[in-house]
Amino acid sequence: MKIGVLALQGDFSEHISMLKRIGVEAIEVRLPKHLDGLSGLIIPGGESTTIGKLAVAYDLMEPLRQFGKSHAIWGTCAGAIFLSKDAKADQPLLGLMDIKVIRNAFGRQVDSFETDLDIEGLKKASGTDHPYHAVFIRAPIIESVYGQAKVLSALEDGRIVAAQEGRLLATSFHPELTDDTRFHQYFVSLAG
Ligand code: GLN
Repeated sequence: MKIGVLALQGDFSEHISMLKRIGVEAIEVRLPKHLDGLSGLIIPGGESTTIGKLAVAYDLMEPLRQFGKSHAIWGTCAGAIFLSKDAKADQPLLGLMDIKVIRNAFGRQVDSFETDLDIEGLKKASGTDHPYHAVFIRAPIIESVYGQAKVLSALEDGRIVAAQEGRLLATSFHPELTDDTRFHQYFVSLAG
């Protein structure tokens, strides 16, 4: 099993370290040919406008869309925005997931925060019962899910912060910036 991490911009190296920690081979993806032989792809956090522009410049848009039709893709933060069909902004999007997102929904960098989330599917998959500690940095909110997409986790006030559509995952927060490997394990199980 080999998982790729889109390495155009953002915190891709943290995802690679996390995958290595759970014993999964991980490679950086910068060109369409790097997708060959992968079981899944992670799109990291960073700046979704920059990731989108670079993906256009490197002719990655169509190859990524094709890859996502038959493989697992997980977008964290900026990656979740890039995966969405609608970000209420004029920027390149893969348009793979039936989610509508609002960028920078919690405000600016100073409004970044951490909180514990209850994610039932994750607890069940990992056989654990402690909450998931989530880090939000200039995070988007998933305003709505529709079609085949389902809510995986929401804040206490109901705002959606994680969604799943088959083998596609979107999280507003950054599991690669914690010590908790459960989300990466969950993604690997979807990709396998
Ligand atoms: N605010 C960024 C964007 O809109 C996302 C921030 C992040 O990935 N931590 O693209």
